[in-house]
Amino acid sequence: MSLEHVLCGLRIDTGTTTVCTDCDRELTECDPVTVRLHQNRQDAQWHLAACYCLSCAPTSLEGLPPTLGTQLLCEGRIGITQDCRPQQTWAVLVSPTIIETSRRTHVTYHATQEVLE
Ligand SMILES: [Zn+2]
Repeated sequence: MSLEHVLCGLRIDTGTTTVCTDCDRELTECDPVTVRLHQNRQDAQWHLAACYCLSCAPTSLEGLPPTLGTQLLCEGRIGITQDCRPQQTWAVLVSPTIIETSRRTHVTYHATQEVLE
């Protein structure tokens, strides 16, 4: 399973909207976003560190405040997921594309992807 598959459907926020970490702009379904994620050692889960709108989106992990563990920068769009129970909706990440990761193996993976395209 590719990292993109793992990240697809990652919960960004509760409800149908979220806000840009930088400018507080409201983001909703289909809006393009760039998310910064981190993963601790001994933890398979990716945790959301920040979510940016198109105009605030960083193009590199460089210059961003460091977090523990592995860092990942990923762009995608906001999708809305609904649970079978009513009033349970979440803003999730869809169509994720990895921009950069601080993990060596994934950098290699990213480079391989670029060659294939
Ligand atoms: Zn913004």
